Formats: sequence, structure tokens, C-alpha cells
Amino acid sequence: MHQFINGTLTTGASGVTQDVINPATGQVTATVTLAGLRDLEAAVAAARAAFPAWSRTTPGERSAILQRFARILEARAKEFAQAESSQTGKPLRLCREFDVPGTIDNVDFFAGAARNLEGKAMAEYSADHTSGIRREAIGVVGSIAPWNYPLQMAAWKILPAIAAGNTIILKPAEITPLTSVMFAEALSEAGLPDGVVNVLVGSGSTVGAALMRHPQVDMVSFTGSTAVGRTVLEAAAVNAKRVHLELGGKAPFVVFDDADVDAAVHGAVAGSLINSGQDCTAATRALVHRSVYQEFVDKLAARFDAIVLGTPENEGADIGSMSSFRHRDHVAGMVDRARGYARIAAGGYAPTEDGLGEGAFYRPTLVVDAAPDSEIVKNEVFGPVLAVLPFDDDDEAINLANDTVYGLAASAWTSNLQRALRATREIKAGCVWINDHIPIISEMPHGGFKQSGFGKDMSTYSFDEYTQVKHVMFELGGVVEKDWHRTIFALR
Ligand code: NAP
Ligand code: MG
Repeated sequence: MHQFINGTLTTGASGVTQDVINPATGQVTATVTLAGLRDLEAAVAAARAAFPAWSRTTPGERSAILQRFARILEARAKEFAQAESSQTGKPLRLCREFDVPGTIDNVDFFAGAARNLEGKAMAEYSADHTSGIRREAIGVVGSIAPWNYPLQMAAWKILPAIAAGNTIILKPAEITPLTSVMFAEALSEAGLPDGVVNVLVGSGSTVGAALMRHPQVDMVSFTGSTAVGRTVLEAAAVNAKRVHLELGGKAPFVVFDDADVDAAVHGAVAGSLINSGQDCTAATRALVHRSVYQEFVDKLAARFDAIVLGTPENEGADIGSMSSFRHRDHVAGMVDRARGYARIAAGGYAPTEDGLGEGAFYRPTLVVDAAPDSEIVKNEVFGPVLAVLPFDDDDEAINLANDTVYGLAASAWTSNLQRALRATREIKAGCVWINDHIPIISEMPHGGFKQSGFGKDMSTYSFDEYTQVKHVMFELGGVVEKDWHRTIFALR
């Protein structure tokens, strides 16, 4: 049973079953009966019914539940890491040291943040009135999450929504549903009232699309592809829902001639290969000053060739498999097409040695000599693939960095203060790192510019998405004829 509706695990009403595959081995991890539209109606009804009472809980009460939840996650960390790895093919080490602790830190953050919803001071902005701000929950939130970080995405979607007093229906990607369901169950165990968090495991085109369109859903939050993001925006028009979109990226990684090249090479390996490159902030376009270009390419190719791929339990492996065979084949197709116009300096194939042929593995791949307007440089690959392009001066570097429809993240590598400041000011992206690439922290916002979407995950900025601000005004004098009425009763 994988549908979590109104505090209870149930079987999907669609009757359609689907296997959850461990993409590192090709083995079946679990079999899920997918949600149908009947489940969607039940989940929306549960979330609506739970909203009035939940939105009236005190911040302290919501915080207490989240604090208990964090300790439950800590106690069950191993189980969560195991489940996450078994549906994504990630190394257990990555789940243990990144996905699970990152999620717990997020819970701890929102347990505190719930008690720090802020607004303007109550004051007499008009001499005759006192004005104040109420920051209120929006209502029922419909969320759709992708398969690259299923547990962290469940956390990013659910935590700010419920900390602010909303109720929510989350639809995880159907290929990676397990930890989202476990997350909701554990919240229940921590004392979350029934109906506040519901998880529907169903297909995007049916249940997902209907959730986005549902007139009883007040806000939608979506993380995934730009193509589906556009349909979400259209669906939200039905009842003018509030929308939050995170649609991926094509992050530049700019290496100036004064950079520490070894640090940049090291950073490019981590920044492009984390989670097998299936990270919307991953470095995808290394833009490197021509004077250090060859050194950078040679050193990085050697590093890529030395990367060890392995199944989740292999503690000696650097990276795991891709999240699905279908996606691996999609990435391989893009690299194969790039052979026609660029040079593959490392990787570029699916390995078969040591049993890796059973899984959706793909070698870390370095693409050089690709034109700035080629497919591999322009489009999101979402895999362990880094394209390297040279530049000759700072203007060209900044122009190339911004030569994309995306704007989620970027990094610049330099020891020059003015260059660092210029990069942070002029690169159009929701995050610009200097001399590093990838770190995220619960206190800081994550979200895109341009076609990477709008709205922020994590941090107290996420409350701007999940709350609405109400102006309340009190007349002070208690008089019948108020001074401003002159504008209407001018003739009397
Ligand atoms: P996707 O189709 O956008 O899937 C993301 C989520 O949207 C999944 O839960 C999916 O459900 C759901 N979905 C699909 N069609 C929908 C619809 N019509 N209405 C509502 N929800 C719908 O992404 P994908 O096909 O898995 O991956 C394609 C590309 O998206 C990747 O190559 C990558 O470029 C990008 N991507 C970006 C991110 C990111 O973090 N921004 C994450 C993942 C992928 P089901 O899959 O269960 O059907
Ligand atoms: Mg899709």
C-alpha cells in the first residue's frame, strides 16, 4: 500500500501496478498500485477538511511536531538511506552523508522557522488608523516532485508548506515514490494530524495533471522539466492558483585565468558528477580562459577517467547509476549526437565490466570543442556530462555564462575580488558561488531566474510562496464623519 491519504496507507484506485526498479541492478525494489482520480478526490477532501484546524495551530505546536519528526528521522536514518538508494541507484554513502542528513537539517530549520514568520510592524501609517499585517496560510497545496532527490524534494515541498499552516498533497515521481510515503508516515507518527500531508503515487499525465488543475487546490508547486512546467502554469490558470516552479538549469562554471586551476578541476568533478549529474544546479558548461584551457581539460579528463562507478553497497564507488534506464539512454543519445560536432575527451559510454551492465550506468563524460549553440551546450542533459568551452576575456565569459534560457545556478573561479564581485552581480542566476559549486544550506533560498522558474525553496524566503499577506486596519477615532469622507461628501 503506497497511497497515504488522510493519515492512512491505502491501495491505489487505478488498479494499475508498476514496479519500482533499483536502477543500479535492474532488480525490482517494490511494486506499487498507482493512484487513480478517486484517490485524488479523497486526498483533496482530506486536505481541505484538515486545513481550518491546522492553519489555526500555533507556530509552537507546529514546531513541536517538526522537532519530534526530526528525531524520528534520525532514529530511522539508515532505513531512509537504504530505501532512497534502492529506488535511485545512488551510493548508500551519498544517501547517508547528504540526502538523509540534509533532510533532517531541513526539518530542524523549519521547526525553528515556523516560529519566525515576520511582517511589518503594526503602526499608524495613517494618523487615524492602526495598520497591521497578518501572514496567513494559503490553503491546500498541490506539489509535484522529480526523481533525482526524492527524499529531499519531499522535504523541500512539504516542510515550508506545513510549517506555515497549509495542508498538502504531494505527488512524487512514480519511479521513486518510496521515501516520500515513508516521510509522510513518519510525520504522522510525530503527531501530525490526519489529512495535513497526503502522498499520491500516480502518473504525472493523469493524477499529476489533475492535481495541478483541481479547483479545490489553492496553490501548486512543481519541480521538474520546463516542458511540464509550462503545462502546470496553464493548468493553474483555471482558478488563478499561486504557482511555484523549479524547472532545472544549465549552470555555467567559469574559470578565470587567475583561478587556482587544481581547485577548479577538483570542484568541477564534484560539481558536475554529484548524483551522477542529475542535479538541476550541477555544473554543465565549464567556461575556461584560453590560457588555462588545455591544462584544465587534460587534468579533468584524467580525473573523470579515474572515477569508480559502483552499486549502492560498494563503499569504494565514487558515483552510482543513473535514476532510470530510460534516462540513461536519453543522456547517451545526446552524447552520441555530440560526437558529430564535438570531441569526447573522457567517457561517452555505458560501462559493462564488473556487473555494471545490469544497471543504468554511464561513464563521466567530458565534451570539448562543441559550439556554444550546439545541443549539448544549450539543452539540459541531466547526467554526468560536462561540456568545456574556452573564452578570451571577461566580457566573453559573462556573455557565455548568460547565453542560456536557464538561470538556476552558476559558479566563478578566481582569486580576483573585482572579478568575483562582477560575476555575482552580472550572472543571471538564483545562486552564484565563488570558488565552489553545489553547496546548499537550509537558511538560504534555492530557486531560479529566467526559464528556470520562479519562487524559492528552503529558507524563510519560501514562506513568501506558502503564505499570503493580509493588511488589517483599525479606525481609531470612533467618529461617524471621518476626515477622509470629505472626498465623497464634499458638497455637505
Ligand atoms: P518531468 O516529466 O517534468 O517529471 C517531473 C514530475 O512531473 C514527475 O513527478 C512527473 O510524474 C510529473 N509529471 C509529468 N507529466 C506531468 C503532467 N502533465 N502534469 C503534471 N505532472 C507531470 O521530468 P522527467 O521526464 O522525469 O525528466 C525530464 C527532464 O526534466 C530531465 O531530463 C531534466 O532535464 C528535467 N528535470 C529537472 C529536475 C529539476 O530538479 N528541476 C528534476 C528532474 C528532471 P511521473 O514521472 O510520475 O509521470
Ligand atoms: Mg516525463
